Amino acid sequence: MKVSIIGAGYVGVVLAAGLAELGHEITLVDIDNKKVEMINNKEAPIYEKGLQELLEKHVPTQIKATTDLKTAISNTELTFVCVGTPSRKEGLIHLEQVKGACLEIAITLLRKQAKHYMVLKSTVLPGTSEECIKIIEDVSRKKFPKDFSFAMNPEFLREGNAVHDFFNQDRIVIGSSDAEIVEKLKELYQDIKAPVLETNFKEAEMIKYTNNAFLATKISFINEIGNICKKLGIDTNVVAKGIGMDWRIGPHFLRSGIGFGGSCFPKDVSALIFRATETGYSPKILRAVFEVNEAQPKKVIELLDKKHNSLAGKNIAILGLAFKADTDDVRESPALQIIKELILEQANLHVYDPVAEEPVKKLFPTLNYAESAQEAIDNAEIVLLLTEWQEFTQLNYGDKLVIDGKNIFDSERVHLRPKNYEGVCW
Ligand code: NAD
Repeated sequence: MKVSIIGAGYVGVVLAAGLAELGHEITLVDIDNKKVEMINNKEAPIYEKGLQELLEKHVPTQIKATTDLKTAISNTELTFVCVGTPSRKEGLIHLEQVKGACLEIAITLLRKQAKHYMVLKSTVLPGTSEECIKIIEDVSRKKFPKDFSFAMNPEFLREGNAVHDFFNQDRIVIGSSDAEIVEKLKELYQDIKAPVLETNFKEAEMIKYTNNAFLATKISFINEIGNICKKLGIDTNVVAKGIGMDWRIGPHFLRSGIGFGGSCFPKDVSALIFRATETGYSPKILRAVFEVNEAQPKKVIELLDKKHNSLAGKNIAILGLAFKADTDDVRESPALQIIKELILEQANLHVYDPVAEEPVKKLFPTLNYAESAQEAIDNAEIVLLLTEWQEFTQLNYGDKLVIDGKNIFDSERVHLRPKNYEGVCW
C-alpha cells in the first residue's frame, strides 16, 4: 500500500521502517529539514535499536522523506498523523501540530479526487478525532465517511524497543465509525500477528490514556512500597518478585527507582487529570501517582544530604541522562531534575550517557561531559546511576559511594554491586 506518514519523530520514523519491512511504500513527511535529510541519507534521526538497519535496507526504494506534505498526500492512499502533542504547563495538551496537519491534509483533499484514508496515531484526548474530522470536512468540503475516511489507531511502542514492539504488538486498536477504514488498516497490518480491537473514536483515544495511566500507577505504587520497605529495612526487589509471581499482578513495571519520565507518562497522566477535572471529577489516584513520582528524584538528594553536610564543590558523577536505557530521549528525564538540584547545591558534576548527551549539552552547556562512564567515575567521589544502561554494571567503582536510582544492581545482580552501594528505595 502507498502510505504517507506525517511526523518523523520517535513514532513516525519507527512506523515508516516497520511498514516498509512489511512491503509497503512509505513517504515520510516532516517540517524539520535536518531530519528529512538524515533519513534520505539512510541515517536514523533518533537512537532506536534496529532502526538504522531498516533505514539502510529501505531508503530510498521503499522509504522516501520529504517536507512536501501536499505531494505526499496526493500520491498516497492512506496517511498516518504522528506529530507531537506536547503538554502545556497546566496539563492540557497542545493540538497545534495535529490540527495543523489536518488543515494541510484538508487543503490537499480539495483537489484530490480519490477517497483518502486518514489515521491519527498521535496521543489525543477523547473527542479530538471528531474535531479533526470537522476541520477536514469544513476546509475540504468533503464528507466523512463518503469522501474521506478517518480512524484513531493509538501507538503503544516502548522507546528503546520500538522496532521490536512494532512487529510484536499485543493488540491493534482501531477506533472508527467507518468499517471501510477498519478493513484497510487490517489489510495494512495483516502480517502482524496481533488481535485487532475495533472501537469507536473516543474509546480508542481513552484506551491509550488509560494504558499509560495504569503503567504509571504501577510504577508509583512500587515506588511507594519501596519507600516504606527502605524505612523498614526490607529489600523491595524481593517483595516485587514475590508479588510479581501472582498472575493477577504480573512481574512487569515493578522496578522501584527515581520515577517515570519520558515524553508520554508525565504528559498523558497530567492531560487525563486535566480533562477529568474539567468534567467536575477530581481524580485522586492519578494525582497521587504524580505526587509520588515528583518526590522520587528528590530521594537521591535526600540520601546525599544525609551523608554529607554540604555538596558544594563535591565531585559527583552522573551516569545516565536518558529517561530510560536504550534511547536518546531525555524529555522529562528524572536525571535532569537531579542535575538541577545539584547545580543549586553547587556540586561539581561529571556527566556521561552513551547516546543522550547532545540534547543535555544544550540545556546545561557548562557541565563536565566525560568521554566514558569510567572517566566520570574516576573524576568523582560520589556516583549516581540515573539510567539503567547495561554497561554501568561492568565498571570499576572502587570504594566510591554509588547511589543507584534505577535498580541497575537488582536482585539478579547483587553479586556485581559496588562495595559502597545504596539503593534509592530498596
Ligand atoms: P516527536 O516530537 O518525536 O515527533 C513529532 C514530529 O512531528 C517532529 O519531528 C516534528 O518536526 C513533526 N511535525 C510537527 N508538525 C508537523 C507538520 N505539520 N508536518 C510534518 N511534521 C510535523 O513526537 P513522538 O515522540 O514521535 O510522538 C508523536 C505522538 O505519538 C505524540 O502524540 C505522542 O504522545 C505519541 N506517542 C509517543 C510515543 C513515544 O514513545 N515517543 C509512544 C506512543 C505514543
